[in-house]
Amino acid sequence: MNEMRLRFPPSPTGKIHIGNIRTALFNWIWARKNGGKLILRIEDTDRERSSREFEDLIVKELDWLGLDIDEGVNIGGDYGPYRQSERLDIYNKYAEKLLENGQAYYCYCTPEELEEMREEARQKGEMPRYNGKCRNLSEEEVKQYRAEGREPVIRFKVTEQDRDIIVNDIIRGEVTINTSVLDDFVIFKSDGMPTYNFAVVIDDTLMKITDVIRGEDHLSNTPKQILIYEALGFELPEFAHLPLILDENRAKLKKRNSDDAVYIGEYREKGYLPEALFNFLVMLGWSPGGDEEEILSRAEIIEQFELEDINKAGAVFDIEKLNWLNGKYIREIDLERIVDLSIPYLKGKGYIKDEGLSSEKKEWLKKVIDVARNKVSYLAQIPDEVELFFAELSYEDKEEAAEEFRAEGVDLVFNTLKNKLRKLEEFNVKNINKIFKEMKKELPVGGRTIYHPTRLALTGMNSGPDMNDIIYILGLEEVEKRLEKALKLANQK
Ligand code: GLU
Repeated sequence: MNEMRLRFPPSPTGKIHIGNIRTALFNWIWARKNGGKLILRIEDTDRERSSREFEDLIVKELDWLGLDIDEGVNIGGDYGPYRQSERLDIYNKYAEKLLENGQAYYCYCTPEELEEMREEARQKGEMPRYNGKCRNLSEEEVKQYRAEGREPVIRFKVTEQDRDIIVNDIIRGEVTINTSVLDDFVIFKSDGMPTYNFAVVIDDTLMKITDVIRGEDHLSNTPKQILIYEALGFELPEFAHLPLILDENRAKLKKRNSDDAVYIGEYREKGYLPEALFNFLVMLGWSPGGDEEEILSRAEIIEQFELEDINKAGAVFDIEKLNWLNGKYIREIDLERIVDLSIPYLKGKGYIKDEGLSSEKKEWLKKVIDVARNKVSYLAQIPDEVELFFAELSYEDKEEAAEEFRAEGVDLVFNTLKNKLRKLEEFNVKNINKIFKEMKKELPVGGRTIYHPTRLALTGMNSGPDMNDIIYILGLEEVEKRLEKALKLANQK
């Protein structure tokens, strides 16, 4: 069997959307599973909207997600160039071919004439479409149009009126589209650039693509592409159209307000982990059969993944699920890495200075992050969780706090705690926990008097991380300082 060759051909016309990245991911998984090649082609024929910045961003995000490419822009290969804007002579050659054998023609209609044509169709209750006006222009007419300075497009001639074109789709089965819904579509624009439907066929063929896996939004383009394959005598690849990604209202996922994150970079910046996002994205449309395991490694995904198992129905993007999954990864992966990834967020808040950390401080930071990571869904939330360890202590309600510290038995609790902590041979969570147990037994006060004022004194808050963790992280000196501050507040009146 021939080597499997897959492609990811984004248009660099904006920041890369989560849906596009999922398409790349499915192609990557399928290539890796089958020992195939993944090709990155840049479809930059929209001159106005394409930019190198967006192209670079695509490369960056693929890299971040760990989707390595075998062939394409920046890498090279035997079938380049891999940027469509650098392949114009190739497209021209094939367009020439179609013009010569009468399967394509120049169309000189102006935008106004096309609009008129559409309006006419609408009035007759028909579908607005091109009516073939320029199919058989005389030499005279052509001369006349040229003299008027009209820049022509090239249209593909759809000659069969009532033919069922069948797309054999790996996911959706047989999809039938009748040629009656197609018109003579444009394959070359007046700016000299090929259209997507034309260039994609030439490139997929010349780049020896065996399987085309792309979003369902392209399913309506596939029949047009099949006609071009046929006209040029090219062999068809396999097709698989992925279900759309939907928002919680089951509408197509798109950015509606500034809170919606649909660009992959927004997740990177918020501190989602690439492995979590990878895991999440693959579940958008696919799930492993059987035990419905949600957390799978890359290797497990590659092993279990089958294109045929992808759902036909749209996949709902559930941010809660992503948060849950990401939180789980944050808690489970190597602490050192989470610390390194958290540092920029802490710097952003001024909790850590730019010049970096001493190894002692780094060890301390590890303890802090180890506690904080239990509470977050993504790393940008870390600063809020660790504020109590960095910022100067302040009470939510100073009056209420003073009242609390004045209560009977509180000074005894604070002083006992200080003494016992000072005497510890080893200052660790286990031993700190023991102290609390002892105090509960030994002191003539209730449990609430032991825990609540202590928490308030140490954190300024009524709830938060585990008290033993807090004491361990703050360290003896800081704990003493905070307890004394509390007692001082109690005595002020
Ligand atoms: N440039 C197209 C897009 O980004 C590619 C579609 C395809 O895979 O054929 O939507």
